[in-house]
Amino acid sequence: MLLDKSGDKIKDSGWIEVICGSMFSGKTEELIRRIKRAKIAKQKIKIFKPKQDVRFAKKKIVSHDKNSLKSKSIKSAKKILELSTKSQVIGIDEAQFFDDAIVDVCNELANSGKRVIVAGLDMDYKGKPFGPMPSLLAVAEYVTKVHAVCTRSGKMASYTHRTVESEDLILLGDTKKYEALSRKEFFKANKVKAKKK
Ligand code: ADP
Ligand code: MG
Repeated sequence: MLLDKSGDKIKDSGWIEVICGSMFSGKTEELIRRIKRAKIAKQKIKIFKPKQDVRFAKKKIVSHDKNSLKSKSIKSAKKILELSTKSQVIGIDEAQFFDDAIVDVCNELANSGKRVIVAGLDMDYKGKPFGPMPSLLAVAEYVTKVHAVCTRSGKMASYTHRTVESEDLILLGDTKKYEALSRKEFFKANKVKAKKK
């Protein structure tokens, strides 16, 4: 029998799944698809997202294709533990906005036998790893990287390019502020930007 740090029993049925990729790559759609299937199997589900993400709705996760599911907005990752004691499956969207505590929280949930499905941006608009995502990817049992379509070349896109002027790491927005780009188009676009400065 395995014991965790506090000496509690670790049940062996829990795990962490991470869905990552750029904006518009279908992370939220994939999260919704998995949760809907768990619902068909009559599992107890809770979905969380960070309070910062108020783009489409406060109490829902919404995909760019207008699919949605009810969710709870929370300020700190720790709150997830309190609110999901009775759930079997935990969905977390926009995980990149959470504090680093999200990693321990996901481990604790999985250790107590729960299925944890986390979706988030793996890179920010500068092409750098985003917040706690690298650590979440490291501790997950299953990792899925989804891709968008490059709006300039039609090829596979894994980068999020900011089309407006702002240096803020967090700038909520949609197709008016961001576009999905391939590696080639992303680095080309940023070179052009750097030259203009
Ligand atoms: P994410 O959560 O990764 O931002 P969503 O699941 O919300 O993505 O949205 C995916 C949907 O976004 C696609 O099904 C499509 O309708 C729409 N979309 C808009 N722009 C693009 C793009 N450049 N590439 C792919 N899908 C796009
Ligand atoms: Mg999304």
